[in-house]
Amino acid sequence: MKVIHWFRRDLRLLDNTSLMAACAEAAGAVIPVFILDTRLLAGAGVAPVRLQFMLESLRDLDANLRKSGSRLILRKGLPEVELPKLAKEFGANAVYFNRDVTPRAIARDSRVASALNEAAVDCKSFKDVVVFEGAEMLTKDGHPYTVFTPFKRNWLAKWDGLNGGAPIKNLPNFSPQTLLLPTGVSLPLPTLKELGVTATVPGQGGGETQAAALLAKFLADGVHKYGTLRDSLTVDGTSRLSPHFRFGTLSPRIAVHSAFAARMEEGNRFSTAIKQPENGVDVWVSEVVWREFYMQILQLHPHAYSGNFNRACDALQWGGGNAKKDAELFAAWCDGRTGYPIVDAAMRQLNTTGWMPNRARMIVASFLCKDLLLDWRLGQRYFMQKLVDGDPAANNGGWQWSASTGTDAQPYFRVFNPTLQSEKFDPTGVYIRKYIRDLARCPQEFIHDPTKVPPMIALQTNTASYPKPVVDHAKQKDIMAARFKALK
Ligand SMILES: Cc1cc2nc3c(=O)[nH]c(=O)nc-3n(C[C@H](O)[C@H](O)[C@H](O)COP(=O)(O)OP(=O)(O)OC[C@H]3O[C@@H](n4cnc5c(N)ncnc54)[C@H](O)[C@@H]3O)c2cc1C
Repeated sequence: MKVIHWFRRDLRLLDNTSLMAACAEAAGAVIPVFILDTRLLAGAGVAPVRLQFMLESLRDLDANLRKSGSRLILRKGLPEVELPKLAKEFGANAVYFNRDVTPRAIARDSRVASALNEAAVDCKSFKDVVVFEGAEMLTKDGHPYTVFTPFKRNWLAKWDGLNGGAPIKNLPNFSPQTLLLPTGVSLPLPTLKELGVTATVPGQGGGETQAAALLAKFLADGVHKYGTLRDSLTVDGTSRLSPHFRFGTLSPRIAVHSAFAARMEEGNRFSTAIKQPENGVDVWVSEVVWREFYMQILQLHPHAYSGNFNRACDALQWGGGNAKKDAELFAAWCDGRTGYPIVDAAMRQLNTTGWMPNRARMIVASFLCKDLLLDWRLGQRYFMQKLVDGDPAANNGGWQWSASTGTDAQPYFRVFNPTLQSEKFDPTGVYIRKYIRDLARCPQEFIHDPTKVPPMIALQTNTASYPKPVVDHAKQKDIMAARFKALK
């Protein structure tokens, strides 16, 4: 038996469910394949920063396959056309792949399954992108969860059930000797430029090798401070693993196993002298479970992909009533020119690096929806164009949480005050000064609200060129709250 393993958003060898199954079932005859999907490459959703990360990850994958005596077979085209062709060319009886949750991926996979069926080639899909999926995670009454806390409780209980409550000693391993060295033709891995795309930000270190190093570094130190520092905008208090979760260069199971193993270490460190306000490992795992929650939401409620999860919000009015003015406000938000330093710093970070911390994402998302009164889908789309970790499920979940249209969302009457958020999470203005050059010399007492800089000091410190606020927070938040209230 020969099996093609079709890589998609699982660009790793270690603990790859479909690849492991292929290796187990097709002794010595697995053909690792990746297809540059021309439909996706031509689509509006292509983000240069993610394409770049994907190419870096593919390069690393091919290098690791070569170390195992194999190599990646790369093709370009439509998967439903290329896979039956490849199966014929290599004499493969089956194509295995790991499932995805987005409506678009599900539609593509069903086209592939039909095409393979017609070609008399077996097609099997596996759970891999999350630890628990769909029907495994239902309430006692058999319904999908719509609230996070009971979802997490059940998720953790299931995890304990899986592993007897202990981190497993031997992580699942990949067996390189079972791969076949494919002799067929492979395209060379293209550069971003060869794909006709211009890089917008520096490379982000894609690949399984980088992911393992980043995880080890974070679990050795950062995770133990995570409970305290994760919201800080002044220091890097989080793992930065999101692009690796996005492209599957890190297995979610390995991430959680390794984190719980690190908790034993954390217990030793903090049990006596220092009392941690929150256990870092538990808080971190909880965030990983949020990722699974949003995947489940998208899988079981596909309408949320482009519509309000809470359909009562369909009647909500967005915009200020003047389309031209709305477009100007949106452009100011995208460019980081709103006159609210914390919002502008975050948007400039996104535009220049392809990343933004979670706290900043919540601040700018709240600002777009509740201060500029603009539809969350505009922000969702912009984030997908710019984020290296842009993930349909987490991005949609984050936006609908912020817009108060989602499941288990921020209540509509709780609106972030950008100035207070700034004072709390960037107290000394390090983050603002890093991304807003105009405010680099702004005196500390005005950094969160430069409208208060006296004209003379503004001239001396060159802060006068920083834009004035495009809206008045106090007024705008009441307008949006009234619109939500009117829905009841
Ligand atoms: C408006 C908005 C949009 C977002 N868009 C995305 C997106 O496109 N892709 C994405 O991966 N995350 C998104 N998030 C969630 C979160 O901001 C990022 O996952 C996090 O900032 C990534 O940094 P990290 O890897 O250092 O996370 P850590 O804090 O180290 O967390 C570990 C992992 O848990 C997951 N995670 C953490 N927070 C969340 C969360 N709130 N929701 C879902 N998963 C989470 C991520 O996979 C992350 O890598 C969004 C949040 C908001 C508010």
